[in-house]
Amino acid sequence: MERFQKQIAFEPLGSKGQEVLSRSKALVVGLGGLGSHVAEMLCRMGIGGLRLVDRDYVDVTNLHRQALYTEEDADQVRPKALALRERLKSINSRVAVDGKVWHVDASNVTRLLKGVDVVIDGSDNLSLRFLLNEACVRAGKPLVFGAVAGSQGYAMAVLPGVTACLRCLLSQNTVPQPVRDTGLYPPTVRVTSALQCSLAVQALVRRKPEKAWAGRLHVLDVWSVEMEAISVARRVGSDPCPVCVRGEFEWLSAEKPTGPQVIVDDDVVNILPERKAEVDLNVIRARLQRVQHVKANEYLVWAQIGDVEMAVFRDGRMSVKGVGDWSEAVHLYERYLGE
Ligand SMILES: [Zn+2]
Repeated sequence: MERFQKQIAFEPLGSKGQEVLSRSKALVVGLGGLGSHVAEMLCRMGIGGLRLVDRDYVDVTNLHRQALYTEEDADQVRPKALALRERLKSINSRVAVDGKVWHVDASNVTRLLKGVDVVIDGSDNLSLRFLLNEACVRAGKPLVFGAVAGSQGYAMAVLPGVTACLRCLLSQNTVPQPVRDTGLYPPTVRVTSALQCSLAVQALVRRKPEKAWAGRLHVLDVWSVEMEAISVARRVGSDPCPVCVRGEFEWLSAEKPTGPQVIVDDDVVNILPERKAEVDLNVIRARLQRVQHVKANEYLVWAQIGDVEMAVFRDGRMSVKGVGDWSEAVHLYERYLGE
């Protein structure tokens, strides 16, 4: 407790809050700018456990805003979940941290939520957010949403059954929504993640969702230096929220398509195998022997072919960056991961 004396002296947290925190576990999904910094703060503050999940590896283009990763992590193409786990262990060795290099979908999200007390959204796409929202509402666990674009940050705590959920939020056209392709001003990430961390701590240690922190969308701009909180009502009445009012979980019950699944997120194409099966990375490496730029570790094989970067993960997944058209990525998948 001694190392936390200064935060315990902060009366709203106190030793009671600290004790609750030390017995709590958080799931952080997506370990980019938001997720990695929220995880770091919770770790420094002495949370009991962290489950870190991200499907990607560290890239040098992450480093201007993701302070937990280093040039060495990028050079070694380390998966973010494992690079971060190692870093956090050196910050507070008492926190039980586990890292998973997973693509989160309906088949594994319920398992990820087991035993955790709060879920942090560090994702960068709507489909994953809707899935997390449904999983949290169904399990009755708090979810702390976060998003950044340009110099704007957004954060909201969802307390299932008490406050509006993410689906309620995103169906309201009075609520400003992040615009993509506006670049990203790095300080935005720190401020927004700090706010998410505070909302997560409060979801753990405070029972009553007082107006200041829950059920409101906090919108900030670190360039114009402004912040506002917008009340978000639960969608009840004649057009009720399908998730938190009607209990219909469309994303959780989505059927898996047959054949490999192609997911396009901005300039990254992810291809998931039809069935999860571990691939022999040595075989992939051998298939890439004529390619000049190849890197490998025990979790993935990475190669650069012209302007295209591809990575094959141990779970049979491939991610491709820099293709003009997703069919080029499928072509690479068939070439290197085909039977
Ligand atoms: Zn709702």
